[in-house]
Amino acid sequence: MSDFAVAIPLMRRAIYPGSFDPVTNGHLDIIERARKLFDEVIVAVAHNDEKQPLLPLKERLDLLRETAGKIDNVRIAQFKGLLVEFARAEKAGAVIRGLRAVSDFEFEFQMALMNRKLDAGVETIFLMPKEEYTYLSSRIVKEIARLGGDVSGFVPAAVAHTLSKKFARSHS
Ligand code: ADP
Repeated sequence: MSDFAVAIPLMRRAIYPGSFDPVTNGHLDIIERARKLFDEVIVAVAHNDEKQPLLPLKERLDLLRETAGKIDNVRIAQFKGLLVEFARAEKAGAVIRGLRAVSDFEFEFQMALMNRKLDAGVETIFLMPKEEYTYLSSRIVKEIARLGGDVSGFVPAAVAHTLSKKFARSHS
């Protein structure tokens, strides 16, 4: 092998896409696992006009920056449009998705194979969270917070604070 080939290390970069509406301890668990496998993990918040998020994009990004933005080799970003195009633009070879239960599988399987059709150079990698997070989703956290329940065991403190402010009006 020439010295030139040895001198250029390949950057292993992965994208972890999602709505993160809001980020939960389950997402953070997946980020922790992914960052041990890759040189850089880009946590990418999707602009999706069809989903109606509780939190505006900026707030979702700010909460991620606050909770995961300072972790070494993790970068917070946003993207619009096709995930594979974003992956290509970022020179990322992998997409990370979390698998909680069999119920996640069908949709994730379909997405992974479709993305492979769109770009065979992007591999989807599934990671499983710690058992205690397998029942956790942004949707259920929002539902508990909306009903006035305590979500502090499921999300970072900044997120619990944002949700309690958001729903305070409906309980006063
Ligand atoms: P999306 O709208 O893409 O489903 P989410 O923010 O809900 O966005 O989830 C992003 C990714 O994180 C998905 O792969 C999802 O399966 C995964 N995920 C969400 N919650 C958890 C959790 N508690 N444990 C493991 N993975 C999770």
